[in-house]
Amino acid sequence: MSKKNHGSLIILSGPSGAGKGTIHNELLKHDSNLKLSVSMTTRKPRDGEVEGVDYFFVTEEEFKKEIENNSFLEYAEVHGNYYGTLKREVERDIDNGYDVLLEIDIQGAINIKAQKEDGIFIFVMPPSMKELKNRLVKRGTETKDALIERFKNAYKEVNEMSKYNYVVINDELDLAVKKVEAILIAERCRVDRIEEFDVNNQEELIHELLVDFNN
Ligand code: ADP
Ligand code: 5GP
Repeated sequence: MSKKNHGSLIILSGPSGAGKGTIHNELLKHDSNLKLSVSMTTRKPRDGEVEGVDYFFVTEEEFKKEIENNSFLEYAEVHGNYYGTLKREVERDIDNGYDVLLEIDIQGAINIKAQKEDGIFIFVMPPSMKELKNRLVKRGTETKDALIERFKNAYKEVNEMSKYNYVVINDELDLAVKKVEAILIAERCRVDRIEEFDVNNQEELIHELLVDFNN
């Protein structure tokens, strides 16, 4: 049986600090069929973030130019900055047979769902709001105001969980990663994701195999 010659779209969402980035880094280490779509953002790079690896960092003016050029599969304003999924990023890898992972917010996920029904929508949850706060504080990448904004938005996002196909609680990291890997394995086995086994035009082969039986 051959795999369909284009990949699937996997959407990973969830509140800031739930562990989406940590999980996708682990997935990418072990799954050579998976590519991360690098989004464009007007947010300033954090220490250690690399242009073209973590995001394409642009000014608001540059971002708006890309909107005019219809470059985005979806875009949204999240925590006061623009973020967008570039069509060119996704299409290149999907066309080459890779599964493409989008790590995007709830607005983006809903937008994608309206366009790509067969996407795999996974919601990453923190084990508790207290632990979410701890993780955001410990990560130490946001100013206090930005941190509060992200924490407040977490409430709204959790309410939208039912729009997803799967929910993964990221309590123990190894287990959360295993759960997402299991989802991807199961999805790749779905009958509607696999090209039909081509039984036509195989008469000659079947005949040879039958002759083989008698030898
Ligand atoms: P997100 O991408 O969802 O905003 P991150 O992946 O940046 O979240 O994780 C937020 C913080 O929580 C990081 O400092 C990360 O190391 C930590 N973290 C992620 N998963 C776990 C976990 N299962 N247990 C404890 N800390 C975690
Ligand atoms: P961060 O600033 O922590 O990297 O990301 C903030 C939020 O923006 C996260 O919820 C992340 O998933 C979301 N995000 C990142 N890229 C995109 C994107 O291309 N589109 C949308 N809609 N959200 C994104």
